[in-house]
Amino acid sequence: MTQKHHLATRTVHAGVTPDPTTGAIMTPIYQTSTFVQAAPGEHKGYDYSRSGNPTRTALEQCIAELEGAKYGLAFSSGLAAIDTIMRLLNPGDHVIVGNDVYGGTFRLFERVHKRYGLEFTWADLTSPEALKAALQPNTRLLWLETPTNPLMSLADMSALAAGVPAGVIVAVDNTFASPAIQQPLAFGAHIVMHSSTKYLGGHSDVVGGLLALNDDDMHNTLRFLQNAVGGVPGPMDCFLTLRGIKTLAIRMERHSSNALRIAQFLEDHPAVRRVRYPGLESHPQYALAQRQMRLPGGMISLELESSEAARRMTMRTQIFALAESLGGVESLIEQPGTMTHMSTSDSTIAVPNTLVRLSVGIEHVDDLIDDLRRALA
Ligand SMILES: *Cc1c(COP(=O)(O)O)cnc(C)c1O
Repeated sequence: MTQKHHLATRTVHAGVTPDPTTGAIMTPIYQTSTFVQAAPGEHKGYDYSRSGNPTRTALEQCIAELEGAKYGLAFSSGLAAIDTIMRLLNPGDHVIVGNDVYGGTFRLFERVHKRYGLEFTWADLTSPEALKAALQPNTRLLWLETPTNPLMSLADMSALAAGVPAGVIVAVDNTFASPAIQQPLAFGAHIVMHSSTKYLGGHSDVVGGLLALNDDDMHNTLRFLQNAVGGVPGPMDCFLTLRGIKTLAIRMERHSSNALRIAQFLEDHPAVRRVRYPGLESHPQYALAQRQMRLPGGMISLELESSEAARRMTMRTQIFALAESLGGVESLIEQPGTMTHMSTSDSTIAVPNTLVRLSVGIEHVDDLIDDLRRALA
C-alpha cells in the first residue's frame, strides 16, 4: 500500500504481507524469544526478541504507513513510548508541555524525569503567544496533545511547529485522534506517539505504545533506546494491535458520527452546563478542528452543575461502562478528576470534578442517547 491509497484501504493492509513460507494471509504470532543462527552472528535479521521480532516489525511498518512516516517503533505501553522519547534529552534540557495532558504523562514528567534534571514548563498551547513566552535557550522538546485529554482543546500543530527554533523536537501524542483523523507529521511534527491501547487496538484487550517518525538519526537513537531500555511489546500484543487496526477507519467514522449526535443531544440538555467536542460549532476552536481533523472523533467531555451530579451520572449509565481508558468499540464513562487524572489533583493542571468524560463506542446511537438521558434524569 502507498500513501496514494485511501486510508480505509491502508488500514486494512498496512504492514501485513502474506507470510513468505506458508502463504498465511495474517502475520503469524512469532511467539519466540530467540532465533537460531547458522554461525555466530549470522542470522536472518532477528537474533533476540527484545531487539526485534517479525510480528513487531509488521506492527512497526503498519504505524509508519498509517502516519505517513519512514519509521515506526512499538513499545509495551504508551508511557514506555513517551519515556523512550524523553531519553533523547539530557539533564538540564527544557521541555514545554501543554497544560492539559493525560495524567500519566504529567506524572512521568513531574515525578520521574524531573528527578533526572529535566525542566518542564506547562503552558496553554491553545495560544501561540504562550508558546513564545515559554521558550528558553535550553528548550529541546515541545510536547503536544491534540485533542487534549480530558478538556478536548486543540493545538494548532502547524502554527506551533513553526513557532519553535530549529533543533527543538516537536512530538505529538495522537492517541485521541488516531491517524484516521490527523497525521501530525504532515503538520510539521517530528515524532508522533500513540497509546495503541486506545483507538488503534480498539477493543480494550491490549496495552501498547507506538511511535512514528521520518528523521534517520532520531530513528537510530530511538531504535537503540528501544533495545537498550527494553520496554517492548510481546508478539501476541503486536498481533492483537494489528488485528484491531484493520477496522480503524470504519470504527473512527462510527465513533465520530455517534459522538456528534450525542454531543448535540447533551448540548440541548438542561442538566448539562457545557459540552466540549471539536465537532460542535460551540467549540472555541471549531475552525481549527475543521482545518486539522478529518473527523471530530469519539471523545466528549461535559460539565455538570456539581461534582455530585457528575459522580451520580457516571454510576447510572447501563451501556456506558464506568471505567478508565478509551477508544474501544464499547462506550465508557468516567470522572477524570477522581480517576484518570487523579495524579494531577492539587497541581496547576488539575481538572474540575464537575467534568465527565465519555468515550463513545460504536453501538447504535439511539441506545446510547437513551442511556445518557436516563442517567441525567
Ligand atoms: C492512555 C494514554 C496514554 C498512556 O498510554 P498507556 O498505553 O496507558 O501507557 C498517553 N496519552 C494519552 C492521551 C492516553 O490517553
